[in-house]
Amino acid sequence: MKHNIAIITTCATLILLVFFLHEFIYMKWVIIGVILLFLIIVAIGTSFIQLNYFVESINKGNNKGIALTFDDGPHAAITSQILAILEKENIKATFFVIGNKIEKNAALLKKIDTEGHNIGNHSFSHNKLTTIRSTKKLKEDILKCNQLIEQVIGKKPVFFRPPFGITTPRYKRALKQLNLQSIGWSIRSFDTQSKNKEVLLKKITKQIADGSILLLHDTQQITLDVLPDIIQFCKINGINIVPLHELINYQPYA
Ligand SMILES: [Zn+2]
Repeated sequence: MKHNIAIITTCATLILLVFFLHEFIYMKWVIIGVILLFLIIVAIGTSFIQLNYFVESINKGNNKGIALTFDDGPHAAITSQILAILEKENIKATFFVIGNKIEKNAALLKKIDTEGHNIGNHSFSHNKLTTIRSTKKLKEDILKCNQLIEQVIGKKPVFFRPPFGITTPRYKRALKQLNLQSIGWSIRSFDTQSKNKEVLLKKITKQIADGSILLLHDTQQITLDVLPDIIQFCKINGINIVPLHELINYQPYA
């Protein structure tokens, strides 16, 4: 919807410029400037999921507490250790899994489910180029992941997290046709790029507030290392870690 507003505003601005300023000698540059500004807005809208520019994503919860989400697994070594920490602390999280990792890690996926965590769709291929392919190809990629998850856990996920947080009009169409809900985040940890646990912990904890959806990756040793400290921080500060579907009041399976 925001994209439609940007298109209408750009077109209206161009029409007004041509109508009122057609004799202005730098008119050509003004028009180029307006078009460039529009393209920059589209690029930003594509890259930042929280802006809900093309797709309405749930990026925050309305309830008290925070939710932990883990992307890019299942990872044979890291995911199982994260599950052990969560079980010890009696915390339920949501795992946005990549379809092409399911076959080799089906037992792990099943374990995530049986231990009471939710599973969401993070596409089959996790390929940046998928976003510029046709809606049909995008739908196939997303559906393939959902079908693989369903084969293993017997439940059809409703939550979808766009890889890299990139959204396009094609995503909007694909998700609508597949009846999936886009889930973003309010805290991006950048754990995949972090080298220092203390820096990462500080970056995360200074942003924690009621309703936060924290994006982590169950593929990184540093995430495994920092997780107990995040949990400890929440305990000390009286912040409950709740399942994502409770934080956002939305059913995770169809
Ligand atoms: Zn990812």
